[in-house]
Amino acid sequence: MKAVQFSEHGDRDVIEYGDYPDPEPGRGEVLLDVKAGALNHLDIWTRRGLPGIDLEIPHVPGSDAAGVVLETGEGVTRFSEGDHAAVSAGVACGECEFCRDGDPTLCPHFSIIGEHQEGVHSELTTVPADNLVPVPDHVDWEVAGSASLVFQTAWRMLQTRADVEAGESVLVLGASGGVGHAAVQIANHAGCEVYATASTDEKLSYAEELGADHVINYEADDFAREIGEHTGRRGVDVVVDHVGAATYPDSLKSLAKGGRLVTCGATTGPNPDAGLNRIFWNQLQIIGSTMATPGEVDDVLDLVWDGTFEPRIREVLPMSEAARAHEIIEDREGFGKVVVKPDSEL
Ligand SMILES: [Zn+2]
Repeated sequence: MKAVQFSEHGDRDVIEYGDYPDPEPGRGEVLLDVKAGALNHLDIWTRRGLPGIDLEIPHVPGSDAAGVVLETGEGVTRFSEGDHAAVSAGVACGECEFCRDGDPTLCPHFSIIGEHQEGVHSELTTVPADNLVPVPDHVDWEVAGSASLVFQTAWRMLQTRADVEAGESVLVLGASGGVGHAAVQIANHAGCEVYATASTDEKLSYAEELGADHVINYEADDFAREIGEHTGRRGVDVVVDHVGAATYPDSLKSLAKGGRLVTCGATTGPNPDAGLNRIFWNQLQIIGSTMATPGEVDDVLDLVWDGTFEPRIREVLPMSEAARAHEIIEDREGFGKVVVKPDSEL
């Protein structure tokens, strides 16, 4: 079979699409005929190389994909041949106190398919049955293959970790990215007043279409000042920040007293000035969030499958053009998700 792969870390030119051994499902695993997958920022970090993560080389990247079940390994009861399924990439041990307590995202052995272990951007892939979610037959492959990681991330950030309530105000930074565009939809659905930032007016109009009540062009305007003006100096209840060092100081400034900043990433760097004076004086909460529990994944993907939430597709590319897919993400072109399909599916 063919797979996207790289044999060394580096720039986009390390990415190849070529022959790779056919996988066989082991105990508890499912063999999937991949119809579509999608890129995440994680794929960029993994390609460049993350400190502390030693990958088997060549590495097949990809955390999001969906396809048809071809074969099930011993002990698999949730799926059978012909079922449609999507990957949910978080892997936990299932045995530690956190797993047994129902929150595998806190597992000390937590890892992500595609980041810490072989990914799913290939014609065929094997995935533990626990990492698959059933997909109704009417759902498009592009939707099924692109929703899981960003919608589960944004769902847990807002619903579980920030615990938003109807009527609260939520600022979503970087609304054109995968997590950002999911967060806008989820906050809107929760009955929140949604503020969104993006770098161009075109991206801002997409954010409005998806449910943002107020939009701020962060290239043209200081978003913390704009939030101050819009809210009569009060600030917002919640900021969704995956940008990191570049936005953190202004995210703190944008919060109302008692507000919550929820973060799932730090694209621009992990070490901003902590701003402790603002945190204690304004009684702020800084909340981390990673991926989601299987129950949270089911809840949010049901709302994707029924059309309540929609992954916006920026572009669909053959897997042989995976390097171009990385370029779109790195250059922040467009809005939403970049989908890749096996060349044989196009
Ligand atoms: Zn565990």
